[in-house]
Amino acid sequence: MLSARQQHCLKGIGIRRWVERSSAPVGAEDILSPTVQEILPPGAITRAAPAKEATKPKPVSARTEICLDSWDDITRSIHQCEACDLASNCTQKVPGVGDRQADLMIIGEGPGHDEDIKGEPFVGRSGQLLDKMLQAIGLSRSQVFITNIVKCRPPNNRDPHRDEVQACNTFLRAQIKQIAPKVILSVGRVSAHSLLNSTGPVGKLIREIHQLPESDIPVKVTYHPAYLLRNPSAKSIAWQDMKTLHQILSR
Ligand code: SF4
Repeated sequence: MLSARQQHCLKGIGIRRWVERSSAPVGAEDILSPTVQEILPPGAITRAAPAKEATKPKPVSARTEICLDSWDDITRSIHQCEACDLASNCTQKVPGVGDRQADLMIIGEGPGHDEDIKGEPFVGRSGQLLDKMLQAIGLSRSQVFITNIVKCRPPNNRDPHRDEVQACNTFLRAQIKQIAPKVILSVGRVSAHSLLNSTGPVGKLIREIHQLPESDIPVKVTYHPAYLLRNPSAKSIAWQDMKTLHQILSR
């Protein structure tokens, strides 16, 4: 409440009515007398702009509650994810490509140089060899779903660290759940070890059909195409793996 003296002073500078902020409704016009509004330049009184929506993508951490119930949710969350250090080193995220209702899901270890540039897993020479391996059992790239254990390129193509694999596992599990494949082809050591919680050599893991932990999805392990390019003699073993894979898909 203003004293008589204060009210006298306000009247002297042209303010005939005073509404205290605490009791004012909203807006600058409501707390200023018509006299004050008249002496201000046009546009000087503006209502407070509503708070803007944050435009920066919200970081997604492994501990953050995120909804991954649809492909849109999964893909958006991957693109916004900063849950591990790999996010700051990659050119772009590589969520995966192919048929989202495929019987066969192929899981490699992580994007390499070409994949990081193109935003698609298994491109370049390794990808071309994988395509040929698929063609050998009558499949094309568009008929399978291809992704990796981690969706961001590890620097200098190093193996992804354990915490990075764990952070990205949220997305991989969500993708597996959406696709519900008949069989998974695990490509290379990092993929096999991560999927099967194993530390065994690939040469041993490829000898049997495994089961994805906490699921009934069979997992066939095979050599990574990059390894086959360096070691052509292992291609005959990979061919046996593809034939086994074909048998599972034909059941
Ligand atoms: Fe997120 Fe996976 Fe990329 Fe790590 S690798 S930042 S968990 S999307």
